[in-house]
Formats: sequence, C-alpha cells, structure tokens
Amino acid sequence: MKWLIISVLTFSFFFTLDTANSYVLYGYKWKHPVTYCSDPDEVTAMKMWLNISGLQDGGVSSTPDIGCVHEQLSPGEGGYAQLNADPVSGSMNSCMIHINTLWSGLLAWVHETGHCLGLAHSCEMGQRDCTLLERQAIMAWDGGFAGINSDDIAAIQALYGPYIPPAPAFFKLVVPNASRD
Ligand SMILES: [Zn+2]
Repeated sequence: MKWLIISVLTFSFFFTLDTANSYVLYGYKWKHPVTYCSDPDEVTAMKMWLNISGLQDGGVSSTPDIGCVHEQLSPGEGGYAQLNADPVSGSMNSCMIHINTLWSGLLAWVHETGHCLGLAHSCEMGQRDCTLLERQAIMAWDGGFAGINSDDIAAIQALYGPYIPPAPAFFKLVVPNASRD
C-alpha cells in the first residue's frame, strides 16, 4: 500500500468543493481517535475543534498522530501542515504541524490543526471571489482573524458529525468487594 505524502501547498488537485457550503475538504479524515502533540497551543487548538464536532479525542501522546515542530519560516507565515493520507481508504494517517518561530499565534495553530483534521482552505487566494463567510473563516487561505466561524463548524461537522456531550453520570454503581478468601 502506498501512502500519499502531500503538503498543503501542493494539495490543490485534491480539493473537493462542497457546493452547498463554501468550505473545502481534502477528502480525508481520521477514522480513529486522534492523538496530538503536547504543545499547550496545540492542545488548546485541538480542544476548539473537539468542542464543536464529533471528532474522537485520543489525547496527548509522545508519538502523536498530529505532531508539531517549531522552525523558522518566512516572516508573516504562521506555519504549514504536512498531511500523510491514504487515498485508497480515505483515511488520514499522520500529520505534522510546522509553526514559525518568528511569528505565530494561537489562531495559526487552529488553522494548521484544521488542515490536519481534513479541512482545506475555504477559499484560495486568487482562485475566485471569496464570500465574506469564506474570508472570515479560520480556514481562509490567510487564516481568518475572527477565529472559528459557522463555515468552519459546517466543515468539521461534515467530516465528524456534531459534538455530542458525554452523558452525565447520574448514578454511581457501587460494587461490593468480592470475598478475598
Ligand atoms: Zn492554510
């Protein structure tokens, strides 16, 4: 089985445009609970996506599905994501977030994490006229500065379904100790 290793910068051929919404998906998704690196910004960014979708939280791992590395990129570039997906099964295999040591902020982490979860740019620069909703999405090509908007929520829920809060523990089951004889 061959794995497709792709950078978001060279990923345009794989875009699929959902005409009912303005968001764009790569066509790949995680099919198991996704683990991620322990960088506090990445943990915060993941929680933001987990809190609005049915994505399964695999927690922080020392060998995460979504890794992160700090490196010096050009000034003004927050970072980029390197996706590793299986085009046959449609399953995301791994992803690496590269964050700029010269400049980055939490929204850059949220944007790159969105790529790692299967979200492409809501509208590429110069591709066509972008709607206001697309330009303000965190998944806009230049990373909307207003945070996650309704277009981003529709995108992540198209992949993983809506967020379902855990059922409250109304009852605590008490099991008496078994005989230790
Ligand atoms: Zn991007």
